[in-house]
Amino acid sequence: MKLILLGAPGAGKGTQAEVICDHLSIPAISTGNIIRAALKAQTEMGLKAKDYIEKGLLVPDDVVIGIIQDRLREDDCKNGFILDGFPRTVPQAEALDRMGVKIDLVIDIEVPDEKIATRMAGRRVCANCGASYHTLYKQPKTEGVCDNCGGALTQRKDDEAQTVLERLRVYHEQTEPLIAYYKAKGNLRVVEGQEEVADTTALTLKALEEQA
Ligand code: ADP
Ligand code: ZN
Repeated sequence: MKLILLGAPGAGKGTQAEVICDHLSIPAISTGNIIRAALKAQTEMGLKAKDYIEKGLLVPDDVVIGIIQDRLREDDCKNGFILDGFPRTVPQAEALDRMGVKIDLVIDIEVPDEKIATRMAGRRVCANCGASYHTLYKQPKTEGVCDNCGGALTQRKDDEAQTVLERLRVYHEQTEPLIAYYKAKGNLRVVEGQEEVADTTALTLKALEEQA
């Protein structure tokens, strides 16, 4: 199955991507994670992306389209994949169409703007391996310490309050039009983000079952 997860920053796309990854044994591909890893490794692409990410802006389409093109060619994608955070603009969606990728299902996770800021404030990420946590919704076994690798949990710079507002603005302007784009193709399902992660997960799995 080939899936796209849409939704505002902080809507919980990454968490749901992991759930589906476990459930269907297909890779979850997060452009955000790929770009952050490149930034950390100081590759050419990472350096190009740095300014955009820190300002809460989108990295240019040609850069992310190139990332996805390379990633989808890898072996583990042949039985399907979950795209978490791509496409984020109409030109990115059109590029995916041009690559001949047939998407089976698009899940749009909807969370009202008022809730986004508080959700984002609680997000933490492992400085070492990049695993994500949340002070309320996804706590590590030991506070401040990564379950996977023992690394220190930190707040992403772009999760700070001021940048979050900019990312939300960018979401409404550039990403939200994709809801109409995929609705017109007939494969869009809306999942209302719930207070409890487990409740959102149940709705996501229901959407998957109805598709299969
Ligand atoms: P979130 O889902 O919380 O918004 P991500 O980790 O998906 O965060 O993305 C973080 C940042 O990486 C974005 O704000 C943007 O700068 C960049 N980015 C990720 N995916 C894309 C994309 N498809 N197009 C452009 N920029 C992207
Ligand atoms: Zn870690």
